[in-house]
Amino acid sequence: MIVVKKIDEAREAVSRIRQGGAAIGLVPTMGALHAGHLALARRSRADGCATVVSIYVNPTQFGPKEDFGKYPRPLEKDLQLCRDEGVQLVFCPESDEMYPAGHRTWVDVEKLTDGMCGAFRPGHFKGVATIVAKLLLIVRPDAAYFGRKDFQQLKVVERMNADLNLAVRIVGCPTVREPDGLALSSRNAYLGPEDRRRARIIPRTLSEVASRWSAGERRASELLLGLKERLTSQVDLLQYFGAYNVETLQEVAPDEPLLQGPVVALAARVGTTRLIDNVELGADPMPIKQP
Ligand code: AMP
Repeated sequence: MIVVKKIDEAREAVSRIRQGGAAIGLVPTMGALHAGHLALARRSRADGCATVVSIYVNPTQFGPKEDFGKYPRPLEKDLQLCRDEGVQLVFCPESDEMYPAGHRTWVDVEKLTDGMCGAFRPGHFKGVATIVAKLLLIVRPDAAYFGRKDFQQLKVVERMNADLNLAVRIVGCPTVREPDGLALSSRNAYLGPEDRRRARIIPRTLSEVASRWSAGERRASELLLGLKERLTSQVDLLQYFGAYNVETLQEVAPDEPLLQGPVVALAARVGTTRLIDNVELGADPMPIKQP
């Protein structure tokens, strides 16, 4: 496995891999790798791609009061996990490599970033879209792999890829969960045992929504009935919880019959940890196991 820190080295390593005839699959991450990230790398390999993982805690997607400073950075452990997963190249740049002095260009995806996480994390998706655009332009992969846990991020990346004619195949991969249903996240490491126990309300709630959908319920008001109160009683702050159109990410009206399965998504703070999760009702209505 090749490990590089510089953009030029990354380009050179990719072009060498490409000369061997392989298609390139890129998995962008912020490191502190877990089974969710590794599933993306495995999918890339299963698709026949030589896999490039980027590890970069992107400062521009963190707000001033967010956890950029304390975000875990276990690089050696991450590199070993990548090696074990058959990754061919890891690109782990330093900040001044990605944002040198004088950097002035940003990618701003409109509308899709107004609601959901965008409403609570101003500038977050501008940071995400910019770094993903830069990574796609550096690596020039055939395909890039993203988790559906970050559903809004996936939609933003798909839109940006289309609007900037980057022509990368964007692949959204299923959310990998703990046995009790909690979505894996690098931030789960912040949860103490009591917070970890309370966090179980998140997958339980989404699982309940999925059961109602499977039972034939098609009104958002009924799909979500009583669940906001239950969530609020367990978490410390519920930022949003709603049903959203999967293309526009607009919240669906409570009593409009749903012809197309929405995504039901939420963000909540448990202790000091912000967690997000969602369930896509059309595609896969029962993906979350009830513990
Ligand atoms: P991050 O390191 O948090 O920026 O995540 C890097 C990529 O891994 C993103 O595409 C995430 O959506 C994806 N990811 C994070 N957690 C999971 C999970 N539990 N299951 C699947 N993909 C995930």
